[in-house]
Amino acid sequence: MEPLLSTHGLQAFYGDAQALFGIDFVLARGEIVAVIGANGAGKSTFLKALTGLVKAPRAAVRFHGEVIGGLAPAEIVRRGLALVPEGRRLFSSLSVEENLQMGAAARRPGAWSLRRVYELFPALLKRRRSPAPSLSGGEQQMVAIGRALMGNPQVLLCDELSLGLAPIVIREVYQALPRITAEGMTVVVVEQDVQTAQRVSQRLYCLQEGRVSLTGASGQLTREQISRAYFGV
Ligand code: ATP
Repeated sequence: MEPLLSTHGLQAFYGDAQALFGIDFVLARGEIVAVIGANGAGKSTFLKALTGLVKAPRAAVRFHGEVIGGLAPAEIVRRGLALVPEGRRLFSSLSVEENLQMGAAARRPGAWSLRRVYELFPALLKRRRSPAPSLSGGEQQMVAIGRALMGNPQVLLCDELSLGLAPIVIREVYQALPRITAEGMTVVVVEQDVQTAQRVSQRLYCLQEGRVSLTGASGQLTREQISRAYFGV
């Protein structure tokens, strides 16, 4: 079967410093795949290379079988990849609803609407007129996800959704993902929180110093395998 999104030998650089050393990755439609790894392993760089924020060699990234490596970020969004950035990056002078509407600026055809985002995250409906910074961390994360969904992407790339959130809030935020994949979305989550990553994903990739150190079905990998791949011990 043709994967929806794949990378082959993906390398990435910041100036002369190499951050990714040949990542092979596949993603099938409807999956939730986690990318884990310690600080500096290359997880964010991987998402940035997929979305054009870091230059990728042309043939190293394919989406629907077409090469998309090195395309401009706006073109990659137009094709259907959306990034939920680390730290959420909401517009702080705007309300919840205005933030969500910003996600519709370069909208692809599709069924996502404010109503559906509020169905997914009922907490946001009550706060729709509130300034985004007045929300709790978990609610702000929901806005960031909702904003990405408003563009009707095919693949949602999420960077560290759990960052700074309490365990119960992490669960609440992550509960949305199986609901949206059931409706045809495909999701990649980058996570430092290994337990969360393993619980929410069907498959996972572990990165270590810019290389894939482990990959497999999340439910079948042992704690020992993961910690060896994560810490390199
Ligand atoms: P974190 O969890 O800390 O975000 P990460 O796994 O996402 O870690 P990256 O941020 O992708 O890791 O970093 C991978 C490597 O690239 C690191 O060695 C890092 O120092 C380097 N790096 C990241 N961003 C830049 C940058 N803008 N300029 C130079 N080097 C960078």
